[in-house]
Amino acid sequence: MTVLVLGSANADLVVPVPRRPAGGETVLGGDTVVLPGGKGANTAVAAARLGASVAFVGAVGGDQYGRLLLESLSSSGVRTDFVRTSSRPTGLAYITVTPDGENSIVVAPGANSDLGVSDVDALTWDDVSVLVCSLEVPVPTVAHAVRTAASRGVRPVLNLSPVVEVPADALALLDPLIVNEHEAASLASSFEGLLALGPRSAVVTLGARGAAVVTPSGVVEVDAPDVSVVDTTGAGDAFAGALAFGLSSGSSLPGAARFAARVAAVSVTSAGAQPSYPTLEQVRKSG
Ligand code: ADP
Repeated sequence: MTVLVLGSANADLVVPVPRRPAGGETVLGGDTVVLPGGKGANTAVAAARLGASVAFVGAVGGDQYGRLLLESLSSSGVRTDFVRTSSRPTGLAYITVTPDGENSIVVAPGANSDLGVSDVDALTWDDVSVLVCSLEVPVPTVAHAVRTAASRGVRPVLNLSPVVEVPADALALLDPLIVNEHEAASLASSFEGLLALGPRSAVVTLGARGAAVVTPSGVVEVDAPDVSVVDTTGAGDAFAGALAFGLSSGSSLPGAARFAARVAAVSVTSAGAQPSYPTLEQVRKSG
């Protein structure tokens, strides 16, 4: 069974700086490091690393960064035949990091803004069991993908990150809607309140406290293992990819969330987003 992941792919251009420049000021930084990122691509890599058959649906530019992103997806075992090369530049995140570890980020979505409903219409759905979307790409494209998936008996999952308004009929098809604690608080005053937005189920990630699975029959909390944290970048994307892997392997929603919390906990024990995502073997060894 295949997991389709629809979302953004960005190259992260990370530069250490002694301090953030003020308006009109120039600050000299250290050497730039280029890393593959974007919520969509991260989610696809997380699921593929666990052994899922994964195809990524996205758009990159015909430039060096686009080639780098395609190469990093392929080398993680993600199928890229649904990735379109756009006339816009590849999405870039300009990240300055100060000595206190704080990031300032400018994202130029570029080709990600160009992912359209025609890209969804070009998909083939044979053997697809789960669709996972995130929101650094246009909402109409995501809503169309969710509706198309549901009409074909494919389970639609949406990581509503960042929080934007999604048409109610598409929200109603989600099983589950995934949000982190802050996103959940901006949407509803309780976990149960998330279901009033319409989804069949919701999962709230709670950082070191794991996650809460919300269904009409109640709320089930799953723990995250106690780990030494090195870098939490991309933990939410690891969770979404692992949840999709679990669901496509036939796990129940609480079972898939329990597994995803373990996978995401392993991912925070090493640096970076994609490089920190574990194989199934590494998850098993983690206890
Ligand atoms: P986001 O990265 O989207 O803000 P969270 O911070 O909720 O999302 O993290 C997503 C998941 O990553 C959590 O549900 C948990 O499984 C795992 N995780 C994050 N931080 C920790 C931590 N300090 N210890 C263990 N697991 C963690």
